[in-house]
Amino acid sequence: MKNLASNVQHHLGALVPAPPALTPMLDSRIEQLLARRPRLIGELLDQYGSPLHLLWPQIFSDNVARFRAALDGRQLRYELFYGAKANKSQAFIAAAAQAGTGVDVSSIHELNDALRAGVAPGRICATGPAKSTAFLAALIACGALISVDSVEEFGAIERCCAAPLATPVRVLLRHRPASAGNSRFGMGVAALSACIERLATLRAAIRLEGFHFHLGGYASAARAAALRDTLVFLDQARALGLAPHIIDIGGGLPVRYVDSDAYDEFLRRQSGRDYIHGRVPASFYPYGGRVGVAEWLDGLLDAPCRDALTIAAYLRSHQLTLAIEPGRSLVDQAAISLFRIVRVKALAGGVHAVFVEGSSFSACETWFDSEFLVDPILLPGAGAQAAAGAPARAFIAGHSCLDEDLITRRLIHFARCPRVGDVLVFANTAGYQMDLLENEFHRHPMPRRLVVHCDGAEQFVVSCDANEGGKQ
Ligand SMILES: *Cc1c(COP(=O)(O)O)cnc(C)c1O
Repeated sequence: MKNLASNVQHHLGALVPAPPALTPMLDSRIEQLLARRPRLIGELLDQYGSPLHLLWPQIFSDNVARFRAALDGRQLRYELFYGAKANKSQAFIAAAAQAGTGVDVSSIHELNDALRAGVAPGRICATGPAKSTAFLAALIACGALISVDSVEEFGAIERCCAAPLATPVRVLLRHRPASAGNSRFGMGVAALSACIERLATLRAAIRLEGFHFHLGGYASAARAAALRDTLVFLDQARALGLAPHIIDIGGGLPVRYVDSDAYDEFLRRQSGRDYIHGRVPASFYPYGGRVGVAEWLDGLLDAPCRDALTIAAYLRSHQLTLAIEPGRSLVDQAAISLFRIVRVKALAGGVHAVFVEGSSFSACETWFDSEFLVDPILLPGAGAQAAAGAPARAFIAGHSCLDEDLITRRLIHFARCPRVGDVLVFANTAGYQMDLLENEFHRHPMPRRLVVHCDGAEQFVVSCDANEGGKQ
């Protein structure tokens, strides 16, 4: 049955048009670099190797400004904590420090990087379920805000401040909302209430600043519901004389990578024939989502809360601070990743395998059994005749000996067949794409990351990211 179905599909294949292109949305500064300075791209790859990540901290700062523009008109108290795990580059933490935003850290290393970048310790919030004793001690010593994940972690914090402290430890309590019932993160009602009662007896040592949650998925409605669920804890704490004043809704704000209509049409029209293994992945990030950050925030803030008030009105009337921990959405557009093509191999059925210098550890969706549904941009290599050659369908493989090392399982439609020495540019890779899984497999050195500053007049100034130590 299965074979028959795939034969029929194969037979029809010639008649079925290809799904639409997933052309990446590009910041104009990046578009300019690619269009006007392709030789610079080649020179950088010669000098620093492939793959190579280019970072734009200015775009990060613009994203902060966009968040603020969406929130400033609301007469709200708010605080942004950049979710630092989205990308390992120091340049973005430095940009957060310069913009005066906070940083959400989940390891002592992220904490140290934030402090080194000059983030005010009071603007650092620590999340995560498994903070080590050394991490907790460092957070307490610098006065960072700690989101307490469990009763057990609460006990560890109590032990850390057994000796009298000059100022109380600042904590949020992380709630596990009903919608995230099976999650291992945060506390249910009983555990969280027990922490509040304990805090009422520990005021001098530990100060309850508020409540926190972070949800999977990207819907503002789920955050609105979780925020409403959190209010009972606020009531309980206030009844006990505590003064919590922060509600931290975590991250998960959406990013758009490609045009929404093209994306929807792609999803409708794609089939197993578009993938080298003949199978459409079960789920994708919503690469062509229709809701931008501003609309998302409006959706949250205008949602009903309590006493016939919207969330915005409720927060205002209770003098509550809305904290948000955007990761992906603050690095939206802020990096691209370049891969040089090292081999192009013709396979059966007119399909080509394009091998790049680099691996799927620097472009990780296939490892999550999904796919980065954004087409790479093909730049001709030095000395190549531009635009010559026939169209081709190809998947993109890394240079390792792992069968699984595929940057795309999806067959990309190229207007001309890629050639050795050409460059593939993956756009918008800063959020979890470029470096989440990177390693030195086959003893290839870690990919380099370069910071690009544009001074307006088509001048691009390139420097190494500060996390690269003494590398030249
Ligand atoms: C990962 C994470 C974030 C950032 O999430 P994004 O989807 O990148 O915005 C924020 N807060 C917590 C607790 C996280 O674990």
